[in-house]
Amino acid sequence: MADKTQEIVLKGVGVTPGVVHGPAFLLTTEDVRVVERTIDEAEIPREIARFEEAVIATRHQLHEIQQRVEKAMDAEHASIFDAHLLVVDDRSFVEEVIRNLRVNRRNVESVLLSVAERYSAALAGLDDEYLRERATDVKDVTRRILRNLAGQSSSELGNLRDPCVIIASDLAPSETATLNPKKVLGFATDLGSPTSHTAIMARALDIPAVVGLHDASIRVSQGDPVLLDGAKGLLILRPTPETLEHYGRIATARQSIRARLERLRDTPAETLDGYRIPLLANIELPADVDAVLRHGATGIGLFRTEFLFLSRNRAPDENEQARAYEQVAHRMAPAKVIIRTMDIGGDKFLSSLKTPAELNPFLGWRAIRFCLAQPDVFLTQLRAILRASAHRNVQVMYPMISNVDEVIHANRILDQAKLELKREGVEFDEDIEVGAMIEIPSAALTAHLMTRHVRFFSIGTNDLIQYTLAVDRVNERITYLYEPTHPAILRLIRHVVNVARDHGIRTDVCGEMAGNPVLAPLLVGLGVDELSMSPNLIPLVKGMIRSLRYHELERMAADALYSESASEIMDRFTQLAQRAAPDIYEIIT
Ligand code: PEP
Ligand code: MG
Repeated sequence: MADKTQEIVLKGVGVTPGVVHGPAFLLTTEDVRVVERTIDEAEIPREIARFEEAVIATRHQLHEIQQRVEKAMDAEHASIFDAHLLVVDDRSFVEEVIRNLRVNRRNVESVLLSVAERYSAALAGLDDEYLRERATDVKDVTRRILRNLAGQSSSELGNLRDPCVIIASDLAPSETATLNPKKVLGFATDLGSPTSHTAIMARALDIPAVVGLHDASIRVSQGDPVLLDGAKGLLILRPTPETLEHYGRIATARQSIRARLERLRDTPAETLDGYRIPLLANIELPADVDAVLRHGATGIGLFRTEFLFLSRNRAPDENEQARAYEQVAHRMAPAKVIIRTMDIGGDKFLSSLKTPAELNPFLGWRAIRFCLAQPDVFLTQLRAILRASAHRNVQVMYPMISNVDEVIHANRILDQAKLELKREGVEFDEDIEVGAMIEIPSAALTAHLMTRHVRFFSIGTNDLIQYTLAVDRVNERITYLYEPTHPAILRLIRHVVNVARDHGIRTDVCGEMAGNPVLAPLLVGLGVDELSMSPNLIPLVKGMIRSLRYHELERMAADALYSESASEIMDRFTQLAQRAAPDIYEIIT
């Protein structure tokens, strides 16, 4: 039996950074108790009327939430609730409940629950990923109808009195959207991944969150003190005074370091010996531009457009996409915005575009492969990107390129998009810069063949590492082999930089390595021209670069290429960071 007073550290996946602590608010899935009872024939009309009223109320609430989300965030997030509305508007579902009610003569709550369970079990058992996802929508909507039947106009979550950390098995998107950031310090769930609807919402609301904790909701009791570290993906139950003190110290130190670094917002990332490197930002949604501007990025180095397609039951059409890209381009102008064409597949499943389940999704029908096989989808996206390029600050790049033919093929479709827009008299940047992402060793080794077809390379180290070292980037068991400083990775990066230099084009890095204050200096030393990272990491990387000498980085990077071990290289750059900027080093470890 576990000691109920002991501190326990649970590890999940951090979704939104930030450290918070407070009492746990355990959200039980059975927050509406359903008692089954038999009803008389005479009671049937009243039960049906109650049900119809609850359905109407639910529809109103969903519309309201949708409008609120659209206002607070954008249409993309709001469209998540389209699927919920489809459930309340599904007459066959409503009729089935009414038919069961008449036949079985039981109260509407119990009938609704059993019909909904049957529906969601049937959906959950289907092969089609999109339909499987709808099972969650049915459950979410049912919970809402049950609450309305019980006369609870708003959920427990809407009525929180004191600030708390929500612990739940899972949170539905509609629940996450209604969280009051003043009362909800953070949340932790057993299920979920960083690309789930809920995680996207949490990020958009800037609520510290950890998902994928497996059994947190079973281990935590109502009111237990908990500490949540959204950066490290930790939930600490009953933190000891030492842990609280430790985190308290970290928080205070972080605040003052952050404040100092934020003051560098308008100063360049320039080494002590005068070498400048542009620091750009990675974004997933147009709303992320706020953070980009706040942290003083030089531009956007990676716009992961597939997130616009996520969490929707219908792919955004050309106009919707153009609006999203234009909004970003307009807000960033004259700073540049590199829009990556959608990178679906791998670990990113999109409900609106049906992709088959695969045995090796990372080696399968992903990114540019998917786009080239669906030229209509690709052409639509390229037209939308071109339409946003009228400000002359948009560039486009293709993900997961494995050979030059793919670049040529993609460029051909881009030319077709240009031709169409020209005929239609639409303004766009005819000279839009095109780049190839270097994420696969074959692309790195044949970079020289691509220089005629692109104006820049952008190295996606997240994938380059997994494909070079044959280490699945999402498999926890082999993370020890996922080594960014492996000499093979450094040699590939250096090779790409050399080829690009020889041909007068630039090399960016937009993988996680670029946002790591210990490893970004190594990339600078290897000769990379631009770094792109999550916006909140920019001040840290900038502060680190401003504490170092370019000449030292060049020498250390050259030595690293001849080093025998990844850990030795990592140690050297760790020591350098620790020595040059001990305060920054402390807050990242
Ligand atoms: C990468 O692979 O490094 C990259 C930036 O792309 P993503 O993480 O979206 O696969
Ligand atoms: Mg990638």
